[in-house]
Amino acid sequence: MKALNYNLARFIKSVHDLNQLPQDTGAEVAFAGASNAGKSSAINAITGIGRLAKTSKTPGRTQLINFFELDNKRRLVDLPGYGYAKVPNHIKEHWQRVVSEYISHRGSLMGIVLIMDIRHPLKPLDWQMIEWATSRAIPLHILLSKADKLKRGAAQNAFLSVKKELSGYEDYLSLQLFSAFSRDGVEQVHAQLDLWLTID
Ligand code: GDP
Repeated sequence: MKALNYNLARFIKSVHDLNQLPQDTGAEVAFAGASNAGKSSAINAITGIGRLAKTSKTPGRTQLINFFELDNKRRLVDLPGYGYAKVPNHIKEHWQRVVSEYISHRGSLMGIVLIMDIRHPLKPLDWQMIEWATSRAIPLHILLSKADKLKRGAAQNAFLSVKKELSGYEDYLSLQLFSAFSRDGVEQVHAQLDLWLTID
């Protein structure tokens, strides 16, 4: 199989509600994570496009589902970051509903990349995402991001401890260290995306 070229990703649409989703055909992979986990930086490192996803200087800014197209059959999807303290409850509830419905019903959703800051993994809403995905047998690939913030041994220990906490979900779940800054782990993510987005 020929590896996909993530550098071709191009913004197509921002969505605020489920009735605005692009046609549910082909294959897509969604990126999820708590606010400030490093999701935008990860998307930019993975595509090699510096400003594709907007990094969040202002918490709460990216309250939309953003769709990027790789070609006419494959998409990357940036889900709204969760857990912003300052977001009003009705907006939190809106996104809980939209994201859970999206994961429950989206036929073209092949997998979810879940980004967690290696220093603050497995927050309550990360667990909720894991529950939503695994209950529908949607596989998850977890990036322990900002791995450059820890020494190699400490990063490895964090990796093993998260892996242990997730035992029981092995069938649906894979896990890796990642740094958008050093680009460590980018190729491993590409290999996972290639697997999920191969449709012919
Ligand atoms: P998002 O809210 O999940 O989209 O997170 P951002 O990508 O905006 O990143 C949040 C903060 O973490 C920013 O200050 C980034 O510069 C920083 N950050 C993101 N990725 C990395 C990384 O790989 N290493 C380090 N050291 N910092 C990172």
